[in-house]
Amino acid sequence: MSTLVIKDLHVSIEDKEILKGLNLTINTNEVHAIMGPNGTGKSTLASAIMGHPKYEVTQGTIEIDGQNVLEMEVDERAKAGLFLAMQYPSEISGVTNADFIRSAINARREEGNEVSLMKFIRELDKTMDFLEMDQDMAQRYLNEGFSGGEKKRNEILQLMMIKPTFAILDEIDSGLDIDALKVVAKGINEMRGEGFGCIAITHYQRLLNYITPDHVHVMMQGKVVKSGGPELAQRLEAEGYDWIKKELGIED
Ligand code: ADP
Ligand code: MG
Ligand code: MG
Repeated sequence: MSTLVIKDLHVSIEDKEILKGLNLTINTNEVHAIMGPNGTGKSTLASAIMGHPKYEVTQGTIEIDGQNVLEMEVDERAKAGLFLAMQYPSEISGVTNADFIRSAINARREEGNEVSLMKFIRELDKTMDFLEMDQDMAQRYLNEGFSGGEKKRNEILQLMMIKPTFAILDEIDSGLDIDALKVVAKGINEMRGEGFGCIAITHYQRLLNYITPDHVHVMMQGKVVKSGGPELAQRLEAEGYDWIKKELGIED
């Protein structure tokens, strides 16, 4: 089992504090959903975990099994088992999707132990079938001309091929039609298990009809203010966030 522990995380962007003491612990074999109103720092959390240079951690810790993630460069974070969909530039010209995925897999392996091309292609084919993706997506240049839905499916393809220990998926359901949403959920459900933990950040409860989270967290004003099980997401869908604000005495 692996554990990702975030303690008292404070993050600023251009000297404005966005995360104000966030705590979160995720084990492998768990899917956590993070919900919350717009502008509460959900994407900031994802960016801080991935090591985006614009997001300054001013206080707190992020550790995987006791290893200090905050001291790692972005590529070291990937090597430590973090998958951050947003770490990939939206468009890289001249690199095919297949090449990119293969080099990401090999980056996590020791030299001399790289995945063989045959084995890689076999698994890529199988996974693309599973995700109902066109085979030509593999040879397309990375994200060039991908539709929103194709990009998301492709993120899930990368996820399933790279097999990270922890994935942080920001707004994985935004802009998806119901078929694409089901495919995304199918991929994440397939990944669930001993060696994998996931943070799914979403505005809507909709995705959670297809992926039953083990834990649901509500973020407000830069902190996790409430945690619960799947029933919490259902209550948010039905009643919105006002009752939590009242309960906690939070002013808008
Ligand atoms: P959420 O994902 O919950 O909607 P964000 O993390 O995107 O929230 O944003 C939290 C706050 O940080 C907002 O007030 C937003 O305007 C601000 N913010 C986010 N990213 C940047 C940025 N790159 N530069 C300046 N302000 C930002
Ligand atoms: Mg936002
Ligand atoms: Mg966001």
